[in-house]
Amino acid sequence: MGSEPGAKIDAWLREGGVVVASSDRASRAIRTEFHRRRQIEGISAWPSPNIVDWKTFVRRSWEERNADGRLLLNNAQELAIWSQIISSERHLSTALPAAVRRMGGMAAEAHDLICLYAPRLLREEARVGWDQDAGAFSEWLSKFSQRCRNDGLISLSRVPLELISKLRSGNASRSALRLAGFDRILPVQRELFQAWGDWEVFETDTTEAQIDFHSVRDVQTELDACAYWCHRQVAADPGIRLLVITQDQARSRGDIERAFLRFTPPGEILLFEFSLGIPLTQIPSARSALLVLRWLHAPLSETELDWLFATDSIARPDELAALQLAMRTLRRRDMQRPRWELERFLAHGSISANLPVDWVRRILSAERSLKELPAARSPVDWADKVSPLLATAGWRGSTPQTSFDFQVQRRWTQAIDTVASLGFDGRRTSWSEFLTELEHAAEEILFAPQSADAPIQIAGPAESAGLTADAVWFLGADEVSWPAAAPTHPFLPLHVQREFGMPHSSHLHDWEFSHAITRRLLVSAPQVHFSFASQKGDVESRPSRLVSQIAGAPRSLEDDLLPPAYDASSTFTVEDSSTRPYSSGHLQGGSAILSFQSQCPFKAFAIARLGAQSWDPAESGLSPRQRGQLLHDVLHSIWSGRRPGIKTHGDLIAIDEENLSGFVRKHVNTVMQSRVPTHIREQMPAMYLDLEETRLVRLVTEWLMFEVTRVPFAVEAVEAKSTVRVAGLSVDLRLDRVDRLHDGSQLVIDYKTGSVDPKAWDLPRPDDVQLPLYKLFGLIPLQPSLFESYGGPARGGLVFARVRTGDTCFAGRVADARSTVNPELRGNSSLVKRKLTATEESAWKEYIEALAKDFVQGRAEVDPRDYPKTCERCGLQSVCRIQEPENRARFEQDESELFNATHE
Ligand code: SF4
Repeated sequence: MGSEPGAKIDAWLREGGVVVASSDRASRAIRTEFHRRRQIEGISAWPSPNIVDWKTFVRRSWEERNADGRLLLNNAQELAIWSQIISSERHLSTALPAAVRRMGGMAAEAHDLICLYAPRLLREEARVGWDQDAGAFSEWLSKFSQRCRNDGLISLSRVPLELISKLRSGNASRSALRLAGFDRILPVQRELFQAWGDWEVFETDTTEAQIDFHSVRDVQTELDACAYWCHRQVAADPGIRLLVITQDQARSRGDIERAFLRFTPPGEILLFEFSLGIPLTQIPSARSALLVLRWLHAPLSETELDWLFATDSIARPDELAALQLAMRTLRRRDMQRPRWELERFLAHGSISANLPVDWVRRILSAERSLKELPAARSPVDWADKVSPLLATAGWRGSTPQTSFDFQVQRRWTQAIDTVASLGFDGRRTSWSEFLTELEHAAEEILFAPQSADAPIQIAGPAESAGLTADAVWFLGADEVSWPAAAPTHPFLPLHVQREFGMPHSSHLHDWEFSHAITRRLLVSAPQVHFSFASQKGDVESRPSRLVSQIAGAPRSLEDDLLPPAYDASSTFTVEDSSTRPYSSGHLQGGSAILSFQSQCPFKAFAIARLGAQSWDPAESGLSPRQRGQLLHDVLHSIWSGRRPGIKTHGDLIAIDEENLSGFVRKHVNTVMQSRVPTHIREQMPAMYLDLEETRLVRLVTEWLMFEVTRVPFAVEAVEAKSTVRVAGLSVDLRLDRVDRLHDGSQLVIDYKTGSVDPKAWDLPRPDDVQLPLYKLFGLIPLQPSLFESYGGPARGGLVFARVRTGDTCFAGRVADARSTVNPELRGNSSLVKRKLTATEESAWKEYIEALAKDFVQGRAEVDPRDYPKTCERCGLQSVCRIQEPENRARFEQDESELFNATHE
């Protein structure tokens, strides 16, 4: 195994020496290695090693020597002071709290950088000449220093500086120190260790590793290759220790986890763990606690409620089932809202009777307890109330069951304590302010379950300091990512950052720091693999120059490192030729189901036979679907023939152009009064609905102006309902409108406000068959005597009526568009160019009948017509599981084969 020099560390610790590690992570790693070596030696008990991380070492040493009673600020307290200073600026007094908080965080970072790299800039006179943002920060820094002096406070960033003076003035003997896991020693650290006395850095082994640098096709293959290699190493030697280095762990964590899970047999213990935790707010029990606390006094969004009712931390399983049913009921009745206040949810007429009684009692009782408290209290008093409120509400995290629960609860308590500590300056806050702080504290706490000492450790480059292994795999060694670059700090002048060598202030500094990490990795294991993806998304990438200098030019991945294709993974395909015929004879869901059958047989099966449903999220106003429905209602009202509606082209042209908009307004007004859902009316200001009304009047007037230009026609039916038989299946149809054209033929019209294209009807596999179905099967029951039989030339047509501002037109197929729709149509108009023909009609008829037969026979394979577009607008991905890598890979492959075939 590679080393921090394990034997030297062991010898030092056994003699009672102190090891200072660069970070908490490094100290835990060194301690774990120490204990493992003792176990290998067969020892059953040994003294705890004296290993301490840099921050703890400095704080403890300062506390031992400080007797003036000043309060050492924690991060939350320091941020609160910076935020107060910033918000007291006249020109920032109206800034939103979140913006002030962000600036406060950046000011605290800038202060920390000064303390670490350039302490002399803490003197106000050394900052003369700083202007703009740096000038503003300089003033805040002066106020911050003043506030700390006046109130007896000290920032953690200043502690090393004070400690240096105390060490210089004291002459007590101190234990010797050895440093481990430091990729670089900052000026202040060096000064402090020198003031301390006896210190040294453990020398690292100089034996360099065997190095390979791989060029891999894309990021997914790179991850798969690394995961596959790691699992094979562990299979060959279960005692092996592997270290995977990845950059930007927070963002790519999910992808890495999926790649490693791919090679973990189901039910087996995970062989990998991440060094970095995830924010406490992403742990379900902590997140549910925060949501419950918020719901007691403020609304939750619909998605938050969905999430809350899907976790098991706030209710019993039977209660959760009832709450989920309540959400479904609201949506089915089109009662969804973007946000739900607790009281409104509990009292909603559609669900209140079926809500679980016990749960309602608990949550109401918690809400009442909160209401009874004074509006402003100290953070400590609020903190005392958190657990009782959660217990009253029935939050199940109050009674941890497993070790994981205990660990989460400990971190949750830490978050509450942090916010309670904000009472240090005697402030009083509202519940809402307290809760906001609690959410921030939980977001900043990174939770990682206690290490199970997995053989594969996944860490970032800097966090890997102190870790050793038998082999290392460094992912993402491309030119852009390594050396790691980042912006300079906006609150410090650039020349200052360069002068003092602050992080990312020059490419040279980035290079030197990354170089130090790379060299450390090379001596931390006998075998080191670097890899990079030559294609990242749509961009080609090049190998890291730093790694190329050390490891030589990258080579393509050797065959034995190539991960197996997804098809050959542990899942395998079973040809399921069994089908379960549809016995009802009546198709629930109408004609849309036959379109779904064409788009993807499984989609039709899941919707019509399993009752699967996707739904639109609630919007803070009318949803596109509701807007479309209002437009349909207005046009229906106009062409219904019932007064004040009209029926024919003659009726329409009899209305003067000046009166047309007044005529439309009457219909729009009636529809808006009767058809706008009550919850939208309650939520939105009257002006919103007035604007919607004006928009509709303008849109419909424009549409009627288009209809004026048509060849005379009569509207024969609007919103006509009928039931037709298609290949033995009875299907309910509803036609938006059917016009009788002047040659006696019929035109089927479907109103559309979105972008639609008649190409969707194109054979051999249409995306949409609704209008062909209406035209070929739906007209018979309307007027059987006039139904045009097949065999002769096609007549009439089927069109989308595109009702869109500036784009009103018919789009579709008409047998003779110039003589029946508009004589002015140009020769290049698609209505004229692509005529409706009898051949096309009979091909559609055959195809639709075949679809109906397939549906009845139970044909239900997952076979999207145009992957991935068909799936993107489907919403059933969680049911058919097409998103899973092996399924996705299969369809992506099919698509690329199809592409190649059509381009050969
Ligand atoms: S997501 Fe795609 S594969 Fe799944 S049911 Fe919908 S269309 Fe079919």
